Amino acid sequence: MEVFQYYKPLILLSKQYNIPHEIIRIIFDNYLKKNIILNIQINSISEKINNQYNFIIYDKINNKRCHDGINIHLHDIPYASDNIEKYRNIIDKTINNKKHILYFSHYCCNNKGIMYKFNNPLNRNHHFLLS
Ligand SMILES: [Zn+2]
Repeated sequence: MEVFQYYKPLILLSKQYNIPHEIIRIIFDNYLKKNIILNIQINSISEKINNQYNFIIYDKINNKRCHDGINIHLHDIPYASDNIEKYRNIIDKTINNKKHILYFSHYCCNNKGIMYKFNNPLNRNHHFLLS
């Protein structure tokens, strides 16, 4: 959902209760917009991670050669700022919550992207096992 779609119901509400638009806009810009954007970003990031992760698992189960990791780039994230660390935190939390077997590998594309590997780069003996 776009940020503006959250704004529309507030405009309707302001008409209904005769609240000046300007006040609604100030409340929206200063208090609501930041959280709405963050929620949109979290949802978008977790959807992208889950999709890529499901492809990896599918390929592993079917013994297909596949990419051994996932990546997220700033241009994949709606309303993204240049603060790549912020998005790494969101990705780390998503991976932890979903218990995905993914390990941070490195920043790519001039710090505009993040790579995670399926195998822990620190443990080369870790392999995917179906048991
Ligand atoms: Zn990249």
